[in-house]
Amino acid sequence: MVDYPIRIKIQDRVHLVRGGNRARFPEGNCLLIDDDILTLVDAGANTEHIIAALKELDHRPEAINRIILTHFHVDHKGHAMYFHKLSNCEMICHPLADRGVMTFEGFLEFYGIKGHKNYEDWMRLIHKRLPFVLSDYVVTGHYEDMKPIDCGNVSLIPIHTPGHTHDHTCFAINDLSTVFLVDIDLTRFGPWYGNYVSDIQDFRNSIDRIIQMGPKTGISSHLLNPISDGLIKRLEHYKSIINEREQRILDNIRKGNDTVEKLTNLPTIYPRIPFNAYLIFEEIMVNKHIDLLEKNGILRRDGERLVIERR
Ligand SMILES: [Zn+2]
Repeated sequence: MVDYPIRIKIQDRVHLVRGGNRARFPEGNCLLIDDDILTLVDAGANTEHIIAALKELDHRPEAINRIILTHFHVDHKGHAMYFHKLSNCEMICHPLADRGVMTFEGFLEFYGIKGHKNYEDWMRLIHKRLPFVLSDYVVTGHYEDMKPIDCGNVSLIPIHTPGHTHDHTCFAINDLSTVFLVDIDLTRFGPWYGNYVSDIQDFRNSIDRIIQMGPKTGISSHLLNPISDGLIKRLEHYKSIINEREQRILDNIRKGNDTVEKLTNLPTIYPRIPFNAYLIFEEIMVNKHIDLLEKNGILRRDGERLVIERR
């Protein structure tokens, strides 16, 4: 068991179910809306945590009416199918999430990693740590950007915020002052955009969209506590990490690390590579930066070599 409370109350009928491992990947937080329609937002915390939180509120897993998925990632769709089988609950996601949620094939397609030289490393990690994601999931419906989802007393407002993935969606709770930021996660690592369906510029725009809404409290999928102090500054700093990485890439190229392979092996984005599988995501993220720098005329690709055009 963990040395922190599994469930904390966010507001009336709204609870944060904290993931294990201090909510770090491959665990994540969920929201539990204890309302007329018993609703779980994401299912990436381990089943013991979700069941314990339900029990504290006098519910059994069979009572879940609806699971809302914020995006197709394994630490978010997580154990949704396990709870769906127990409760026959609704399972809703963004329309763009469908293939990535429903089948492992679609999931792989969104990741864009099949055929990569470290693909087998990644598959070993999945089989060992996240085997449930190999099975098919059910989707029974969709939500729409800014169209409130009624839980009885509480309403959840989907805010489509692509970038991390194309389907990534935050949820405002009742009004725009409290937002489940999901994987605009405000961790020290910064934004993650290591999938085929990730996009750096979309990520920046999505953070700006949230900032413009002026939320007071942000709830991350991967931090134990909601953030209220200086939330807007935290969001701005989080976004600025993308620019720091861009600078680091240019600096590393100037030092002679002038191919994607060399930049990846340093590594440039991750502080370190804990498993070889992470080299895949490091490489995808480096490539996304290179594409953007090329588009903006800052560098060009000369075969494998990266050549800086201007400062
Ligand atoms: Zn994610």
